[in-house]
Amino acid sequence: MIYLDNAASAPVHPKALSAAMPFITENFANPSSAHTLGREARLAVIAAREQCAAAIGAQPEEIYFTSGGTESDNLAIFSALGFNDKHKIITTEIEHPAILNACKELQRRGLEVVRISPDSEGIVHAEDIAAVIDNNTALVSVMAANNEIGTIQPFAEIGELCRRTGVLFHTDAVQAVGNIPLDMRVLDVDMLSVSAHKIGGIKGAGLLYARKGTPISPMIFGGGQEMGMRSGTENVAAIAALGTAMTEVGRNIPEHRRRLSRLRDMLIEKLEKIPDSRLNGSHTDRLCSNVSFSFADIDSEALVMTLDLMGVCASTASACSAGKHHRSHVLAALGLDENRIDGALRLTLSDQNTEEEIVTAAGIITECVARQRSG
Ligand code: PLP
Repeated sequence: MIYLDNAASAPVHPKALSAAMPFITENFANPSSAHTLGREARLAVIAAREQCAAAIGAQPEEIYFTSGGTESDNLAIFSALGFNDKHKIITTEIEHPAILNACKELQRRGLEVVRISPDSEGIVHAEDIAAVIDNNTALVSVMAANNEIGTIQPFAEIGELCRRTGVLFHTDAVQAVGNIPLDMRVLDVDMLSVSAHKIGGIKGAGLLYARKGTPISPMIFGGGQEMGMRSGTENVAAIAALGTAMTEVGRNIPEHRRRLSRLRDMLIEKLEKIPDSRLNGSHTDRLCSNVSFSFADIDSEALVMTLDLMGVCASTASACSAGKHHRSHVLAALGLDENRIDGALRLTLSDQNTEEEIVTAAGIITECVARQRSG
């Protein structure tokens, strides 16, 4: 099997698994308990918070563990309800549904939401955001990198703009962590979302970074865990794994990018040879792990099924949510016609992929596209 769906879920890193195992087997204690086992579990959560903070140049008390990227995004967006009586959120048309649907709910509750369009490569321009920021703006939320087309946004520039204009800035970095260096000491980012299962951790864990002084407010009430921001007994095993995964993906980003960019470009070069194919997103401002293509006159849902039978795991534009397929809002925002949207295939790489796999997968994709076209 050749696994090219790493943006949906990446393999668990062996060191992350080792970090998690003791808290599934011998130490099952509640980290709030006063006894030795409880204290050990609590120490594991503290250590993971320190690891996560160190990986992004943050302070441990700025890290709030959550159940994943979706919850982190919601925590950031819903916190905007309490930002100084301001009633406007600026985001983009190409965010993950975790942002778009949270904003839709806030709109239903009376807030104004402005969604900025990207250009034809999927890049959101800071000038377009500057044009709509006003005194009523509570929050700007722009993802660091897009999950479907891999476009890297000018989030540092957008952060600077927000800092200058006194508006809080959140970035969904779920797909960026490990692929782009993220240092909160130099970036003007107030809140940042991370998901564990995209970076070698375990599903059901994530974090929200919130810079000291950012007025976030809880969505879940209870025992007051996570400094009162996220009640509920901590998922100690997954949190321990997340701490280790954050350390591991931050270890050598330049080398990771060099190696993956070479594989990515090799795959792009081979798929560009397929007649009527087109790379979606940017050639230059692109995650080293993302290849998104559209093939004219192809039903990519059927293509993904055929590829599966041939041993290649891929997605259509994105992994469909809860098994339902929707036409990609990201590709539509880029201005692609329905034919190109319906023929979109997303291939996402990890460090575990080899050159041999890329060559084999490209051959299989070329063959499957030709076969579907010949009917
Ligand atoms: N944000 C982005 C950009 C994502 O790609 C995803 C997952 O695909 C999420 C948020 C949601 O993360 P999770 O699956 O941890 O809820």
